[in-house]
Amino acid sequence: MRRHGKLEYGCHAAPQRTCVGCRVRTAKSELLRLVRVEDQVVPDLRGQLPGRGASLHPTVSCLELAERRRAFLRAFRVPGPLDASRVRAHLEGEPRNVM
Ligand SMILES: [Zn+2]
Repeated sequence: MRRHGKLEYGCHAAPQRTCVGCRVRTAKSELLRLVRVEDQVVPDLRGQLPGRGASLHPTVSCLELAERRRAFLRAFRVPGPLDASRVRAHLEGEPRNVM
């Protein structure tokens, strides 16, 4: 039951979240937090919007995966369609050096 050294360090590693698109666990800081505002999914760029969030790799491919799998409906627990066009615009409009 002793927790020293490497194990201890592991317990305090950066928090991880699962990408709703590709389902890969990634450090929270590398994922884009998304929140629902009415029937829209919007990027929470400052990480300050209230409510249930979903995490996504900031790539269009993961967004498309999430849309295809209807992952946003599950993540936000709503039955109806959600509009993720603002997330797409954000991802397409701000190319960034991921690596
Ligand atoms: Zn992903």
